[in-house]
Amino acid sequence: MDRQQDYIRALFAAEDETLREVVRRTELATEPIQITPEDGKFLQFLIRLGKVKNAVEIGTLAGYSALWISRALPKGGRLYTIERDPARFALAEQTLKNARNVTPMHGDALEQLAAMEDKAPFDMIFIDADKRQYLDYLDWAEKNIRKGGIIVADNTLLSGAVWLKGDEPLPPRIRQSTNEIMKTFNARMADPKKYCSILLPLADGMTVAVKLF
Ligand code: SAM
Repeated sequence: MDRQQDYIRALFAAEDETLREVVRRTELATEPIQITPEDGKFLQFLIRLGKVKNAVEIGTLAGYSALWISRALPKGGRLYTIERDPARFALAEQTLKNARNVTPMHGDALEQLAAMEDKAPFDMIFIDADKRQYLDYLDWAEKNIRKGGIIVADNTLLSGAVWLKGDEPLPPRIRQSTNEIMKTFNARMADPKKYCSILLPLADGMTVAVKLF
């Protein structure tokens, strides 16, 4: 961790023992690909600023980001968080057992999203699952997030793939087809007629949009 991040984290986004324990359990069981503490604090900031009550998260992993979100929701608020992988879902259930305002949902994101349209409109969606499905998640969000609601998506710089030109080589493990999807996703989110939005260079990039329609 560099000194700038160290300073910001210590002052604004320090993890408590519960969050640190989630990171430890994740590292023992699977890839540690959860958001950073600064991202977690930023999600909390958006929830408070946007008066978010009902939120959806796609991609729970072990429940680390869900715990950050849970702690910022107002009384009566709820987070629905979706995870496909059974082992990761079990980790998340353990993490979130005391988070009474979180509903962990096990299954494929697109199926689970389709099944929860009757609970719409939602105030916020946090997209952090299969990069190849980002356009499908955005289609769902455009229909099911309220006007003035917030769409947040992680990893939208795709390890720097999105700005490559011509035949410049892709970063390891990034497919051209996924890169095309992410570039289209960001271009849609950048549409000023639909969104007030920005791609923030946090970690691997986080695109944030307020829905204007
Ligand atoms: N949001 C989590 C956090 O910050 O703590 C990290 C999520 S991790 C980057 C992405 C997760 O999405 C993985 O655990 C993966 O199993 C899950 N995932 C991938 N494709 C999915 C799908 N189609 N439906 C549901 N979950 C999916």
